Amino acid sequence: MRASSSAGRPEGRASAPNGACLRLSSPVVTVEERIRAAVSAGREELTEVLSALIGFDTTARELHDPPRQEADLQEYLGGRLRAAGASVDIWEPDPADVAGSRQIPAGLGFEGRPQMVARFAGAGGGPSLLFNGHIDVVPFEPRDRWTSDPLRADVRDGNLYGRGACDMKGGVACMVLAAEILARLGIRLRGDLLVNTVTDEESSGAGGLAAVRHGVKASAGIVTEPTAFEVWVACRGSLTPTITVDGRPGHAEMAQPHWRAGGAVNAIEKMSVILDAVRRLQDEWRGRPDKYHPYLAAGTIVPVKISGGEWMVSYPAACSLTCELMYLPANADADGWGTEVEAEVERWIAAAAAQDPWLVEHPPTVEWHVDIPPSEVDPEHPVVGSMVRASTAAGRAPVLGGLDSWYDAATFSRFGETPSIGYGPRSIAWAHTVDEYVPVDDLVTCTEALALAAVDYCGVAE
Ligand SMILES: [Zn+2]
Repeated sequence: MRASSSAGRPEGRASAPNGACLRLSSPVVTVEERIRAAVSAGREELTEVLSALIGFDTTARELHDPPRQEADLQEYLGGRLRAAGASVDIWEPDPADVAGSRQIPAGLGFEGRPQMVARFAGAGGGPSLLFNGHIDVVPFEPRDRWTSDPLRADVRDGNLYGRGACDMKGGVACMVLAAEILARLGIRLRGDLLVNTVTDEESSGAGGLAAVRHGVKASAGIVTEPTAFEVWVACRGSLTPTITVDGRPGHAEMAQPHWRAGGAVNAIEKMSVILDAVRRLQDEWRGRPDKYHPYLAAGTIVPVKISGGEWMVSYPAACSLTCELMYLPANADADGWGTEVEAEVERWIAAAAAQDPWLVEHPPTVEWHVDIPPSEVDPEHPVVGSMVRASTAAGRAPVLGGLDSWYDAATFSRFGETPSIGYGPRSIAWAHTVDEYVPVDDLVTCTEALALAAVDYCGVAE
C-alpha cells in the first residue's frame, strides 16, 4: 500500500526502497482505489451487519449453561459468505477435540455452539490469509446502567452502541465485509482468504482451539480484536492459582492458649503471610530482566478473590486466595506453557510459609486452574508489514504493540501453524464496558485496511 501513499512517486520504479513497492504496480493501485470506493459505499451495510450480530445473544456462559444464539449467528454469517462465493463449513466440535489441553476446563462441550469457517479460494501461487474473530461477548449486567438495549444496536452521534460493538463483533463485521467486498469486486487473490468465527474466547479459548484442531489454518492470520489500529504481535499468558491456608477452629470470644497447647489459629490472619509474599513477588517481577518484553507489560500476580471463615463466633478454619497471574512468552516452558511459572510461585509461597511456625507444620496448598499460554509473532513476519502498509494506506499509520491480556491469535500461532497478529477498530480499553460502542468511522477504516492487507499479503492474480 505504500506506493499509493507516496504521492508523486512513479509506480514500480527500480529505485523503490523495497520489494513491497514493486508489487504494488499500477493494476494494484487501481485495486486499492476500487476497494476504498466500495468500502466507503458500504458504510450502511457495515452498520447493518454489526447490528445483526449484536442482535444475536451470544453472551459468554458458565460451563454447563445452555447455548444461546451462537448457531443462528454462525448461520447468518455463513449464509452471507456462501452467497459471496465462499465454501462454508459450520460444525459443532466434539468435546474430545479440545479435551486434555491445559487451556480447557474439564467437561466443556459445544452443543448448540458451532464454529464457522468460510474459504474464498485463491488462484494459487500466493500465501493464504486467515481472518478470525470471536462471537461471544461478556455479560451486559448491570443492564439498568445502559442508555440503550445492549442487545439492540443503536447509532448515536456516529457511534454504534451495543454489547460486543467494541469486543469484538465490530471487528467481525469488518472482516466479513472486507472479504465480501473483495469477492464482489471480482478481485481474485493468489492465496486463499479464510473467514473464521469462533465461540468461547472470553472464557477459555476453546472455540479457537477447536478450529485449529479442525484444520483451520493459513500462512498467517489477523484477529480483528479492538487494537485501536495497533498491530499486536504478542500477548501474555494467564494462570489462576488458588492458595489455601488452614487454621484451627475455636471460640472467637474466648481467650485462646498457644496453638502448640491446642489453641485456635486464625486462617485469615495466616493468609496475611501469603498476601505479603504475593505483593513481594509482584515487586520482584517488576524489576527482573526476564519479565521485560518490548510490547508487553511485565508479569503480574494480582489477588482477585479471597474467602475465609465459617461462623461469626469461630476462629476461621480455612482461608483461600485466588490470584490472576499473567506471564510473558519468555517465561513459558519448552512446550510453551506456564509450568515453570507455577513452580516459581510454589517455591515463593513455600519460602514465605517457612518463616511462620504454624505454616511450617500446616503448609499452604496451591491449586492451579487453566493455563492460557502466551504467544508472539516475529515483527519481521510478512503479515506484519502487510498490515502496517494497509493500515497506513487506510489513513491510520499503526504502531506495533501487544495485548497484556490474551486472545485467540495465541492459539493459531502456537497450535495452528498460523502466525497471527491482532488488528481492529476501537480500543480494548473500552471493551466490557457499560454503553460499549464503536465509532462507525473506525469500522470503515478497519474494513478498508483488512481488504488492503489481504491484497498486499496474498497478492492479486493477473
Ligand atoms: Zn475480544
